[in-house]
Amino acid sequence: MANKPRILLIYTGGTIGMIKDYKTGALKAFDFSQIVEKIPELQQLNCNIKSVSFKEPIDSSNMNTSYYLDIVEIIEENYTKFDGFVILTGSDTMSYISSAISFMLKNLKKPIIFTGSQLPIGDLRTDAKENLITSIQIAATKEKNKPVISEVCLYFEYKLYRANRTTKISAEQFEAFSSMNYPPLAESGVHLSFNNHLIHQPIKDYNELIVRKDLVDDIVILKLFPGISKQVVRSILEIPNLKGVVLETFGSGNAPTKASFIQMLKEAIDRGVKIVNVTQCIGGQVIQGHYETSVALNDIGVINGRDITTESAIAKLMHLLSKKISTKEFTFLFEKSMRGEMTDKKI
Ligand code: ASP
Repeated sequence: MANKPRILLIYTGGTIGMIKDYKTGALKAFDFSQIVEKIPELQQLNCNIKSVSFKEPIDSSNMNTSYYLDIVEIIEENYTKFDGFVILTGSDTMSYISSAISFMLKNLKKPIIFTGSQLPIGDLRTDAKENLITSIQIAATKEKNKPVISEVCLYFEYKLYRANRTTKISAEQFEAFSSMNYPPLAESGVHLSFNNHLIHQPIKDYNELIVRKDLVDDIVILKLFPGISKQVVRSILEIPNLKGVVLETFGSGNAPTKASFIQMLKEAIDRGVKIVNVTQCIGGQVIQGHYETSVALNDIGVINGRDITTESAIAKLMHLLSKKISTKEFTFLFEKSMRGEMTDKKI
């Protein structure tokens, strides 16, 4: 039937694409071109599913930014031919990958759902089938002929999240992700229920999808711990060609007040390095200047990451560093929501 939603499955690698060879016991790659034959339940979804796979499936730990580009190019090439996209990657770095893709695609009007699994698709107790089937169902869901989702999401274990709000929190539970600062966009139970008021609604006037392919990866995460030495901080901030730092601070954005520490940060900022304050806490936000231990960060021009995740801060830095903009504009753009990745200040 011509009106069936068309869904493109993009398999990049990871556990979900593995199947057990019961003769040898070894895990081998699953052939996604036969997905509908291998998972007959998919026929009940009443959509046309096509798939493409990376030539060499890759563990998500090995996915650098060139693979993000491969994914967005597949989406760009197929954007008008499909109603929705389901991207299968390893779960380990899925929050980083999907956050980056959310910044690379502007004016998105179609669903892009990342999913994966903790157990291979061919395992008896697998979580892969539910994750895959519901992700496809979500990508195919329309209301008044428009997709219900038009943003980059991550679906795992009965919950649909805004991708750039997620963090992997468990290496072994099926509930592997959380989104502490933004509630799920949909929950799957007996019914698939969408939280419409939380879902991004595209601005009608902007029709064209804009694909931003430039990412700058000369950046680092500097996670503070009590007593971190001057030498360590200095050698990180003096990495040649360093352009950006995600400074993981304590609580609501607090850091040592020692003059030498603040001076090192200031010198880096004066050299043009962008330093973003993100909390080490899994939930809550940075309030720079709230405690004495973050007043100096404000004064020297550290960017307030508010309630952004580290994964999303990395993605946003990579994206914004590629723009030729002033420090003032950079700070302004970083401190406000671009793709729903942070909660805007109440004015
Ligand atoms: N190591 C795998 C990966 O991230 C784990 C998974 O697929 O969940 O590629």
